[in-house]
Amino acid sequence: MRTSFISRGLFILIFVFWACNTEKTPSYDLILSDARVVDLESGQVKIQDVLITRGIIQKLLPPGETAKIQATERLSVEGAYLLPGFWDNHVHFRGGTDLVDQNRKFLGLFLAHGITTVRDAGGDLTPAIKEWQKEIASGKPGPTIYTSGPKIDGPNPTWAGSLEVNSPEDIKLALDSLQTLGIDFVKLYDSRISGELYLETLRQTDILGLISSGHMPFSVTLEETVSAGIDAIEHLYYVMKGCADEELQVTQGIRNGTMGFWQAMPRLQQSYTDSTAQKTFDRLKANNVYVVPTLHIGRTLSYLDEADHSTDPYLDYLSQEFIKTYQGRINRALNASEQARKDRKALDDFFRELTAQLHQAGVGLLAGSDCGAYNSYIYPGPSLHDELEALVSCGLSELEALQASAYHGPRFLKKEMDYGNIAEGKVADLVVLSENPLEDIRNTRKIEMVIKNGEVFDRESLQNLIKPN
Ligand SMILES: [Zn+2]
Repeated sequence: MRTSFISRGLFILIFVFWACNTEKTPSYDLILSDARVVDLESGQVKIQDVLITRGIIQKLLPPGETAKIQATERLSVEGAYLLPGFWDNHVHFRGGTDLVDQNRKFLGLFLAHGITTVRDAGGDLTPAIKEWQKEIASGKPGPTIYTSGPKIDGPNPTWAGSLEVNSPEDIKLALDSLQTLGIDFVKLYDSRISGELYLETLRQTDILGLISSGHMPFSVTLEETVSAGIDAIEHLYYVMKGCADEELQVTQGIRNGTMGFWQAMPRLQQSYTDSTAQKTFDRLKANNVYVVPTLHIGRTLSYLDEADHSTDPYLDYLSQEFIKTYQGRINRALNASEQARKDRKALDDFFRELTAQLHQAGVGLLAGSDCGAYNSYIYPGPSLHDELEALVSCGLSELEALQASAYHGPRFLKKEMDYGNIAEGKVADLVVLSENPLEDIRNTRKIEMVIKNGEVFDRESLQNLIKPN
């Protein structure tokens, strides 16, 4: 009797020990082993195993230390580079309900190009975007979408679907409706809105604690815009204005109608002054205002009159209906005077120098492609890689260009707790590259694998996401 009591006790003890022990070795959904993990903050590359559960990075461990850890799936990515998935920080889903299906197709194309997050800078397809966000959250393949919803502009705005602000009351209505839509930031446009209402919209946005980005009507100064609380400036026209000695004269000319936007351009460019520019850069930096240079689209549109895009392979992914939206800009380029074409190209060169200056001054830059309907030959997916290359050509290091995508992107949208690096607790939106992007930025295109929502897409499954029309 006594022996059996002891052995029973021993058995229970062993069982308890075993039970405790198994509790201490949890199982993971996925272990990526022997990855060359690129730290987006320091630029260091360390060989590590990355342990993932429920789409979140749980742990990083030295290789060899995970041999006994259980995992549903274990993938060796030895020799390959692991980075946070790319962010395209300026895209557009738009073109009316006829183009919803085409826009939907871009989701797969983004992912196939390693882009796990896009920032939609305004359009007319917000209801569709809301649907896609739900689908993607529930596991369908596609990037995380942050959206501004419709843009804010003045009466009879250029872009369909924009909210029209023509009085102080309209500002409240517009911001209320954007909040009801659950937008991630407020995007302001400059085709018709008055300078006064533009600045007041920025102030009200700030008071509500919302993030703002925008163009800027030339009827206000950059200083007024920064003071009103803008968080990011899309494109470089407006930064150029703030760097010009003749900014006030131009602003006056625009206000009293003696000068137009495109007439103002050469004047602003010619009166660029280093000391004025430096003051502007310091101001942008001190206020944490990001700048989105959109260089690749700038160059593409500046050379529409010369370049032949008819054999671009990406056209196979686009419907005829969508390609038609490219024609407006093409016609304008072809109908422009010789002088206007020259000016446009000179301005494009100037913008590359301005980007170099902004970068040297330490102003935060965001990599965004401006892809979407109407923006001729700026292709959703590859154009972000073109933008990264353009940033490097302006003097950013490869690391800094990568930071402009997946590191600054989350910071601008206040999502840095979840995104921006490969670290414990961050979302496991990842891309695996066969070659080192820190040595050559073109290596961002050498995509072996994308991990999104806990799902692994190898080259074959990425290929399946994209189907030519
Ligand atoms: Zn845009």
